[in-house]
Amino acid sequence: MTARVTDAEIIGVKHNMLTPIVEVEKIGDKRAFRCECECGEYTDVQLNHLRNGRTQSCGCLREQKKYPNVHRSIINCYRGMKKRCYDTKNKSYHRYGGRGIIVCREWLDDPSLFHTWAINNGWEKGLEIDRKDNDLNYSPYNCRFIKSKPNSQNQQRSRYWFVDGVRYESSRDAASVLKCSAATIRRRCNGKVLQSGNYSPPDPNCWSEPKYSEK
Ligand SMILES: [Zn+2]
Repeated sequence: MTARVTDAEIIGVKHNMLTPIVEVEKIGDKRAFRCECECGEYTDVQLNHLRNGRTQSCGCLREQKKYPNVHRSIINCYRGMKKRCYDTKNKSYHRYGGRGIIVCREWLDDPSLFHTWAINNGWEKGLEIDRKDNDLNYSPYNCRFIKSKPNSQNQQRSRYWFVDGVRYESSRDAASVLKCSAATIRRRCNGKVLQSGNYSPPDPNCWSEPKYSEK
């Protein structure tokens, strides 16, 4: 019998594309952790699958292998859209699937039709998909690619991030110095509402504040 691994030996230690953030309810009778994937998605994985490499990503890796010539961000754009509309555990579900927003049939049935549409309709790395009419579905007629809205990335750069009391210019800077993901920095500084509904508070001596005074 091997000794039980402590959380400190697991949390934050990356296996393949996955970095465990917090222990969650057991899957079957196995310990499980919520992990952040390199692609930014979250997924709950059994500890043994994490360690033996049976699970290496949130699923994006498998998808990428299926469509080796499609840029990862197009694949993630598609997966994100589907999750917002159909995954009740997704944090944005209430604003999409929960309001009856769906993905049009042709895209849902055949991801490669979406990939082709994206490439032919202004997709560039760094852009995000937008629905022109917020009450209509994801479809070729209602979608376009736009620069990310403020409140996501732009806001990250307008704040200082303090981790263990040390100031960083952005969550990305802190992440590269501390060798973790920017999402981990944001969780450590802001705390996070977990899918279980529990709130995990910021770490001691970690916070973020605006660089410019907020009006
Ligand atoms: Zn992933």
